[in-house]
Amino acid sequence: MQQETQFDLIVVGGGTAGAFSAIAAAREGLKVAVVERGTCLGGLAASSGLTEMNAAGFQGAPLYRGIEREVFDRLIWGGHAAYHFAVPMSSNKEVKIDRLRYDPERLKLLLEQLAVEAGITLLYETELTAAREGEEECQITARGPYQEIALSGKYLIDATGNASLVQALGGETEAADERERMIATLMFRISNVDLDQLDAFIHSPRLGETIRQGRESGVLKGGILAFTPIPGTRDVSLNGTRAKFDHEDLADATRGMVELRSQIEPIFRFVQREVPGLEGAYLSGIAPLAGVRDARRIRGAYQLTIEDLERMTCFEDRVACGCYPMDLHDPVTNTVVWKMLPGVYHIPYRSLLPLGMKRTLAAGKCLSADPKAFGAVRVMPIMMNVGESAGYAAALALRENKTLDQISSASLRSCLDQKYGV
Ligand SMILES: Cc1cc2nc3c(=O)[nH]c(=O)nc-3n(C[C@H](O)[C@H](O)[C@H](O)COP(=O)(O)OP(=O)(O)OC[C@H]3O[C@@H](n4cnc5c(N)ncnc54)[C@H](O)[C@@H]3O)c2cc1C
Repeated sequence: MQQETQFDLIVVGGGTAGAFSAIAAAREGLKVAVVERGTCLGGLAASSGLTEMNAAGFQGAPLYRGIEREVFDRLIWGGHAAYHFAVPMSSNKEVKIDRLRYDPERLKLLLEQLAVEAGITLLYETELTAAREGEEECQITARGPYQEIALSGKYLIDATGNASLVQALGGETEAADERERMIATLMFRISNVDLDQLDAFIHSPRLGETIRQGRESGVLKGGILAFTPIPGTRDVSLNGTRAKFDHEDLADATRGMVELRSQIEPIFRFVQREVPGLEGAYLSGIAPLAGVRDARRIRGAYQLTIEDLERMTCFEDRVACGCYPMDLHDPVTNTVVWKMLPGVYHIPYRSLLPLGMKRTLAAGKCLSADPKAFGAVRVMPIMMNVGESAGYAAALALRENKTLDQISSASLRSCLDQKYGV
């Protein structure tokens, strides 16, 4: 099959941020390619066993509009998602979050359908190998299992979740050091659950007692045992495994994955014995991706800080919003550290602009933020919002025949106000 090689926009990484960037830009008429090393869209949201969009709502009402709202609504109409407001977090019952529970398999299907309908060129099993930003155009090369390809595009979006595109372009990036590196989790899915019995258990003091018992017996490595029922099924996903490793070190990342997987059978046996509603249940899936909370991030034209979120700074160039509190999975104390934030905060466009670059944006969890701000903004609904706006920004730059660093805050705001209807 003859491969198209010239695009307006190349998105590297097809996670939530990348998929939303690509769909937004393609619907604006751009010719878009997505280079994704996995075999589907959605990244962690589709393939790490996650099933809850944290802080998808604010004070009991949905927070997001645009394509994000369309995706949530379509999942809800299909019976594959539902809002749950003011749900306490498993690690701290005082923290209550509005969430959208969803079936990740259905999210995977829907994102791909929307991408195909928008005419996006999808390149799966394709990993970025090199990139160059030129005056008029950018080039990337990427490798699939049997082929290397070279593509050119007027603009690039780094939605890799690890800033690998910006690194390949020679841009500055930073990763958490060993003391800050958050604990990783491997989620798994349990089927044939009596959801009513489980729900009664989750809302009783017995959950806390079971977590304590699990920790004391050594089966649970941390204070989290979070069961999430998956809409439209009799399945739950379970967040309970925990391991520390350096995900950028191949050998250590493999050791970490093996360690995480080794925790699953003992946890499953423990919950089947201790948790009502799981008597007839069975282990039906283990996520193919370990849930690595950290991300290598770009150094952007502006680094978002926790103080910005605390003050709810209203940036002139704001492109996305969120309301999730800071949650850091501390590797030293093995506890979850929470900092509540006062309301809906904003992310500026400059946090997506890698220092010194003109035709590249970073969308998703590799945006420029300090570690504490990152601990708040990294959740999926915010990353989708960032991604969608990055796609609109690329479309605006193309319309105005500008580089990405030249578009004005005023035209960006007016474009986004129209898109999100505010
Ligand atoms: C354990 C854990 C629990 C979490 N719990 C929640 C939760 O309950 N609720 C919530 O809202 N959020 C949660 N999050 C956060 C959330 O899942 C992520 O921060 C968010 O999904 C990030 O989206 P993204 O698109 O930026 O990155 P990703 O989803 O990581 O997508 C990046 C994509 O880029 C691709 N890629 C990477 N490098 C390359 C390359 N070189 N070439 C080509 N492709 C590449 C990857 O394959 C991937 O598909 C959790 C995260 C973890 C790890």
